[in-house]
Amino acid sequence: MTTGSVRRLPVENGVSGWEAISERRFPLRKLEGAVSADWLIVGAGFAGLSAARRLQALRPGEKIVLLDAGEIGKGTSGRNSGFMIDVPHNLSAGEYSSGGAEATQVEMAQNRFAIAFARDAAQDYGMSRETFDPAGKINAAATNRGLKLNASFGQSLKAAGEKHLFLDAAEMRELTGSSYYVGGLYTPGTVLIQPADYVRQFAAGLSGNIDIFERSPVTSLTRRDGKWTASCPSGSVTAAKVILGVNGHIDDFGHFGGRLMHIFAYASMTSGFPADEFGSSASGKDRWALLPADAMGATIRKITTNGVSRIVIRTKYTYETKVAVGERRMAKMKEEHRRSFEARFPQLARTGFEHSWAGRLCLSRNHAPAFGEVEEGLFSACCENGLGTVKSTLAGIMAADLATGTMSPELNRYMDHPEPSRIPPEPFAWLGINGVIRLQELRAGREG
Ligand SMILES: Cc1cc2nc3c(=O)[nH]c(=O)nc-3n(C[C@H](O)[C@H](O)[C@H](O)COP(=O)(O)OP(=O)(O)OC[C@H]3O[C@@H](n4cnc5c(N)ncnc54)[C@H](O)[C@@H]3O)c2cc1C
Repeated sequence: MTTGSVRRLPVENGVSGWEAISERRFPLRKLEGAVSADWLIVGAGFAGLSAARRLQALRPGEKIVLLDAGEIGKGTSGRNSGFMIDVPHNLSAGEYSSGGAEATQVEMAQNRFAIAFARDAAQDYGMSRETFDPAGKINAAATNRGLKLNASFGQSLKAAGEKHLFLDAAEMRELTGSSYYVGGLYTPGTVLIQPADYVRQFAAGLSGNIDIFERSPVTSLTRRDGKWTASCPSGSVTAAKVILGVNGHIDDFGHFGGRLMHIFAYASMTSGFPADEFGSSASGKDRWALLPADAMGATIRKITTNGVSRIVIRTKYTYETKVAVGERRMAKMKEEHRRSFEARFPQLARTGFEHSWAGRLCLSRNHAPAFGEVEEGLFSACCENGLGTVKSTLAGIMAADLATGTMSPELNRYMDHPEPSRIPPEPFAWLGINGVIRLQELRAGREG
């Protein structure tokens, strides 16, 4: 018998703007009583939802239960910046592309495999262009250093035969209304999602065939007589096989301890303003999406729905040993967002932030996922390394393939990775990781 209490449960840090403007179209059910199933998936983010869709395709007719501690759309999968990126995007490397040419090709093929899966789901579940928009993205440069980073990224893309296009300062101004940027690098393969709408519509699409229970945190997971039982405050699920799509919380389930870095990312969304109020000179076209040329800079999107525009900004990272951040930290990050926003869009200085929030990412030092069969019948699809829209989608698909014994070239390639490497013990990890983040943010300067 294997027994385990779950050490900590997820916490929502602030209300995400994406969730606040998203509409929920399916009923919320909490787990009540004891339920048996063929499959249990814990976590209804990109990983868990993708695992559920894949399992449903591989094992039609088998009973699948999906549990989440919170509400779908309110967790990290519903509160990110919504860039589903196909080209390399390694946050911890200083430059986005960290591997050699062959590793880069493998990574792009994997990212595109995940994006194609998401595209099929978007089509099947009737997502609109506002929820799933294959518009591409721009790496925006605000400094000469940013221009150099773009030039070097462009070189790797050229060597890999990837389409890309450089934009000059005037083109950036025409697109964004901002004179802040001196150049940009466009790549066409990124899909922009409204993250809360995406996960909600994905779950709604699954809910006819899969039992989804929210506000049902798993507080212990126990194996007895060849079956796993997950206990929640008002019920339990027993199943032969379990997939954990809980990202960094995998170490609260007793796996990959001392190997995962829990990084908080922070974002704010303005209140809505009429798309034509300030004219195109203030914030440019209706929709655009910028990643920073320096990975430690600011990610900014503008969205417009029914004539109402909003700008969403994400800057700053911190490493934390807790699952929640305090009010003071949140207020400080909001100030940072304000500073970055007003520097770029001075004409919008009177447009306030309606929502500010934080969310938790999971990185490993060697960029490896926390993936595989961690105990008999228990599979992990965790540690997304900062690009969970894509990497967690892929991990979820791969976990379903592994758990059903569905071998494929994609699974063989995916399994070929090292374990996440160890991080130093606390407090050295906290000091060291926050020190590196701070230095990289200082180096990013005006890009942030
Ligand atoms: C501000 C911000 C911006 C970001 N921008 C981007 C971006 O543009 N592109 C990108 O690719 N990524 C981005 N990310 C990262 C991305 O959001 C994550 O990588 C992604 O959400 C990971 O997905 P996941 O399914 O692995 O985990 P999660 O989204 O964390 O989902 C895990 C789920 O498990 C549930 N869970 C945990 N423990 C339990 C338990 N005991 N019982 C039941 N349920 C449990 C949680 O409630 C949660 O819903 C961003 C993140 C933030 C915070």
